[in-house]
Amino acid sequence: MIKTRGYAAHSGDQPLQPFNFERRTPGPGDVQIDILYCGVCHSDLHTARNEWNNTLFPSVPGHEIVGRVAAVGNAVEKFAVGDIVGVGCIIDSCQHCGSCAEGLEQYCENGFVGTYNGHSMGGGENTYGGYANNIVVRQEFVLKVPHTENLAAVAPLLCAGITTYSPLRHWKVGPGQKVGVVGLGGLGHLGVKIARAMGAEVVLITTSPAKVADGQRLGAEGAIISTDAEQMAAARGSLDFILNTVAAPHNLDALLALLKRDGTMTLVGAPSEPHPSPDVFSLIFKRRSLAGSLIGGIQETQEMLDFCAEHGIVSDIEMIPIQQINEAYERMLKGDVRYRFVIDMDSLQGE
Ligand code: NAP
Ligand code: ZN
Repeated sequence: MIKTRGYAAHSGDQPLQPFNFERRTPGPGDVQIDILYCGVCHSDLHTARNEWNNTLFPSVPGHEIVGRVAAVGNAVEKFAVGDIVGVGCIIDSCQHCGSCAEGLEQYCENGFVGTYNGHSMGGGENTYGGYANNIVVRQEFVLKVPHTENLAAVAPLLCAGITTYSPLRHWKVGPGQKVGVVGLGGLGHLGVKIARAMGAEVVLITTSPAKVADGQRLGAEGAIISTDAEQMAAARGSLDFILNTVAAPHNLDALLALLKRDGTMTLVGAPSEPHPSPDVFSLIFKRRSLAGSLIGGIQETQEMLDFCAEHGIVSDIEMIPIQQINEAYERMLKGDVRYRFVIDMDSLQGE
């Protein structure tokens, strides 16, 4: 077994604290990774605080991992010691159901194994994520990082990047389309950058007037303050697609009204309480769709990393030592992140 240092929550109402545990010794198909950076996703907070009522404690969050390969099993061909690699939200799946066969492991019909808060395939213990100094992952779920610099800012692509890239691709966002991105947080700011790089005209929809200038810097041509009734009324029926990243329940009808006929709003935000149910008339009069999307498959995650490297896209980050994780969660709850916290895992030394 391999000794690992990390940070864990021991219950939903306690702060994260230092935690020592063990990883499996790498098997023939495994890659052992020294973690350099791990992004802080709002899902980490939902999980650490048991907001989805499914947390296995102790819980070591973290699924936006960039690290350096420290060892490989003898059947590993794609990776060598020293390679810079990524690990996202999934570290295993059945590999034989219809969804896995299509490269959609996130929809594995036998249940994928989450990087944290998952049960290892065939049962067994709780998986521990990336708020730690190392991780062992089977090679099929390890990504090649094509970026050569700014690796801390690459980490958030592994969840926030793919979670926005996948629906933008699935709903064929591109030139000639006007796309709304709701919520300028970790997911939203990458959604703006990626939708713009795909050629769409992007409109930021935010509750925070102070973020409008950043929205423009990130690539949004327009902005709507969602709490301003006049601005919302003026934008009715103007958007082809909306990517909704908001982490709290809110009025979906007000946003659906912004869609053109046949437009779709895709929810990726995963609040712990349900949204108020939308009014059917928001949908039927303009044949609109309300949809959802979960992260992305492994092949698509690699495609997203390559796309981002090609277009010079990384996350805007604020680097923190792991000792500041609990304060970072409080700031995330206030929407006070520009636009992703990333943990510098060097800070674990001496813990
Ligand atoms: P985040 O950085 O906290 O951003 C969420 C943004 O939502 C905020 O910056 C804020 O933007 C907006 N917002 C408006 N009202 C809010 C409120 N009352 N509480 C919180 N946010 C509010 O979060 P994130 O990491 O981007 O994650 C967003 C959501 O996506 C979370 O629920 C997360 O669990 C979920 N998620 C889903 C998937 C998936 O596969 N579907 C993957 C990853 C994460 P403005 O200030 O611009 O209004
Ligand atoms: Zn995430």
